[in-house]
Amino acid sequence: MKAWLKFLPTIVNKAIMSDAIKIYDIDFNILRAHINPRGGKMLVEISGPQENECIQYMEEQGIEVIPIMRVVQKDSEKCVDCGACVSLCPVKAICIQDDWGVEIDNQNCIGCGFCVNSCPTKAISLME
Ligand code: SF4
Ligand code: SF4
Repeated sequence: MKAWLKFLPTIVNKAIMSDAIKIYDIDFNILRAHINPRGGKMLVEISGPQENECIQYMEEQGIEVIPIMRVVQKDSEKCVDCGACVSLCPVKAICIQDDWGVEIDNQNCIGCGFCVNSCPTKAISLME
């Protein structure tokens, strides 16, 4: 699952994440992070058989866990299917369909933002 993890200043220096990885043997991938001593948030991908137990542990330690279904959103009203974003995606999460429409697969998206900056019509936005 992908989720935003929110940290209050009181827990930002604690080794909660490394403890969670060790205890629950999960795969943990940081996609984006905005953290400083005043707190912050991290977009992560968590997977493993004990994923739910790990999330429960993080919440008990004071991390707010907000699961997300979408990393980016494409506004179909603004998208003109120019294809400029397709080749820039490092994980091939954007593809051209048989009808030449451009689609984003949020399962594969890692939130790098390359497509956002490449779009001439500002059709793509990162979910916050
Ligand atoms: S944010 Fe990055 S990974 Fe996600 S669709 Fe855009 S280019 Fe691909
Ligand atoms: S760059 Fe923008 S307008 Fe072009 S296909 Fe991608 S989302 Fe659509």
